[in-house]
Amino acid sequence: MVTIAVTSERDDEPRVAVSPETVKKLAAQGCAVKVEAGAGHRSRFADDMLKAAGATVVASADDALAGADILLKVRRPSAEEVKPLKQGAIVAAMLAPFDERAGLDALAATGASLMAMEFMPRISRAQSMDVLSSQANLAGYKAVIDAAAMFGQAMPMMMTAAGTVPAAKVFIMGVGVAGLQAIATARRLGAIVSATDVRPATKEQVASLGAKFIAVEDDEFRQAQTAAGYAKPMSPDYQKKQADLVAAHIKAQDIVITTALVPGRPAPRLISAAMVESMKPGSVIFDLAAERGGNCELTQPDRTIEHKDVKIAGPLNLPGEVPVNASSLYAKNLLAFLETMIDKKEKVLKVNWDDEIVKGTLVAKDGKIVHPSLQPKGA
Ligand code: NAD
Repeated sequence: MVTIAVTSERDDEPRVAVSPETVKKLAAQGCAVKVEAGAGHRSRFADDMLKAAGATVVASADDALAGADILLKVRRPSAEEVKPLKQGAIVAAMLAPFDERAGLDALAATGASLMAMEFMPRISRAQSMDVLSSQANLAGYKAVIDAAAMFGQAMPMMMTAAGTVPAAKVFIMGVGVAGLQAIATARRLGAIVSATDVRPATKEQVASLGAKFIAVEDDEFRQAQTAAGYAKPMSPDYQKKQADLVAAHIKAQDIVITTALVPGRPAPRLISAAMVESMKPGSVIFDLAAERGGNCELTQPDRTIEHKDVKIAGPLNLPGEVPVNASSLYAKNLLAFLETMIDKKEKVLKVNWDDEIVKGTLVAKDGKIVHPSLQPKGA
């Protein structure tokens, strides 16, 4: 029998790594799921719901962890927390492998097999396990909802007997998973939407969602997508041309949602202080890249500031603000991943360490950091 532990997250993380639906599916496959009491509370998964789905709800984290084969978390647990697990147990979580290395090393030293869900390869077989997509999609949605609430004016055009209310103009910068959902959400609210990106593939996607595409479409743009589907860092020359284009466009926008990222780098700076100052009073900038330094020069992480009557928000955990949905999808991602490692007939853990998705996510094993991207440079 495979024993799976789920414990509460820290205070600033409302999500949880299981849902009643995934507990039910894991239990049906012969797994014992032990959940710390209250762990699902902030995602509206009451202990009774989890129990009814087949989980054993236990009083403390240590009770859940004792002798478990697998620990499922949203955020990286501490080395102390995982000690009661079975030796060599699997820990699957969003481990933020590039952050706070000392903590990661200490966790690795416990001997647990650490699997970073953010490293899930973006291949079609692993689409159902892609936590970056499941969470970014919700972040894109929530960004528009929050920005609309901060805007203090209507989003759709309204023609009334007392006069016409104009539609809000929303500009989405960066059209990956979060940006596409932001476009769709802003359109549903009735805004006039435009969007920009450096990857040519986004041009058609933006148009198909009914938004206007704006970009510097030169030779560099035509080659801006890597084989993995991500954006390349752009040259200073391109950045200058892009800044001129954005400066001209942004003046007339009411809400700007920024989501632009380049893997392994600080977020590209797309909005300068001067551009902010050119915007109308009451405009809103909602910067989803705040965690990586922000797409706007004035963004402050985890804060909403006001600069010359323009509000600038830099949220750090938007998926955590829709925890019921975010936890449900995250738990499903974990379930799909675990199903590849559980022998359903024999009801035992059978990990194929050569599987692309295991190799791709495995950060540490047998006390050592093993992921190539986390080795010292030149090693
Ligand atoms: P991301 O979070 O890395 O970046 C967000 C967006 O910012 C991207 O569209 C990127 O092109 C854009 N960007 C970067 N620099 C910019 C700049 N200077 N100016 C304007 N925009 C800039 O992206 P993501 O949401 O993770 O998606 C990346 C790619 O992965 C997309 O092609 C997406 O379709 C693909 N994807 C594939 C799978 C899969 O196959 N399983 C799953 C999800 C996403």
